[in-house]
Amino acid sequence: MKNIKGTTRVCGLIGNPVKHSMSPLIHNALAEYENIDMAYVTFKVEEQDIEKALAGAYALNILGMNVTVPHKQNVISGLIDIDELAQNIGAVNTLVRAEGGYKGYNTDILGLQRELIDAGISLENSDIIIIGAGGAARAISFLCAKEKANSITIINRTRQKAILLANEVNNKLGVNIVKGIGLQEYSRLSGKKYIVLQTTSVGLHPDIDTALIEDDEFYDLVEVGVDIIYNPAKTKFMKLVEAKGKKAYNGLKMLLYQGVSAFELWNNIQVDEHNVQKVYELMKKELEIVE
Ligand code: NAP
Repeated sequence: MKNIKGTTRVCGLIGNPVKHSMSPLIHNALAEYENIDMAYVTFKVEEQDIEKALAGAYALNILGMNVTVPHKQNVISGLIDIDELAQNIGAVNTLVRAEGGYKGYNTDILGLQRELIDAGISLENSDIIIIGAGGAARAISFLCAKEKANSITIINRTRQKAILLANEVNNKLGVNIVKGIGLQEYSRLSGKKYIVLQTTSVGLHPDIDTALIEDDEFYDLVEVGVDIIYNPAKTKFMKLVEAKGKKAYNGLKMLLYQGVSAFELWNNIQVDEHNVQKVYELMKKELEIVE
């Protein structure tokens, strides 16, 4: 049992549902390993109660919060400040207590950024394909553009969503490097090797034998693949990338590092790499991942 005292600061997750979140495991372990007097719990908050929840959290002296579905966008209007990248993305997942309220960040994207650094993948000057145009793809598109990618191609089932997202990133960041295409159009992309970021929910447990693009020829375009799904640990997309002799990564480190980045923001520290690794091992155990 955790040693909760009069001095223990509280952090938590607001969302709905929150029951299956991995965040309590991540943050309570980090607090223990880093010897920080902090406890992390979940708060189920209904959509219409988000403003009350923020005011209540501030009044209760809560140090920081993670935010998940369905509040990542609508929480923004209740913040006193927002990080520039989170503002561009239009979604926050981490709130840090400040004078008079909370400042919002998007550590999902910081998490992916750190996963890519770990894997030795540099976005700068790279040609990138993003599969999907949902919430995660949106954040990732802004990251890739901010990191000065050479080109970004968003491929999505609903072509119009890919085009709208591409236009928005180009317009907001004043660039002209992002384009959106439909699923049938990737044959135009020959001649280059791409970093491919798989961001759709296709292939997620229990539909583990599917990938949005299964066409063998598509995988000739891949230099390295990252699937942000982590359950299963090796998705069909990753298997198709590996079948071409290329490296493929899952999204578990993205999840790990979004937590580590939030923890660092709340406590104004840098987590020891050895402790990061210990939490990663705990997460794999929880998900029954054997490597
Ligand atoms: P989202 O906003 O609902 O977007 C879903 C995307 O998947 C859209 O592009 C959608 O295409 C596509 N899609 C879904 N079902 C499809 C199907 N049957 N056929 C073709 N395309 C399909 O979801 P999200 O928030 O971006 O999350 C996407 C995935 O990322 C989830 O699996 C989530 O668990 C994972 N994720 C992981 C992390 C991490 O830390 N590793 C963080 C965030 C998200 P349409 O536009 O055509 O509908």
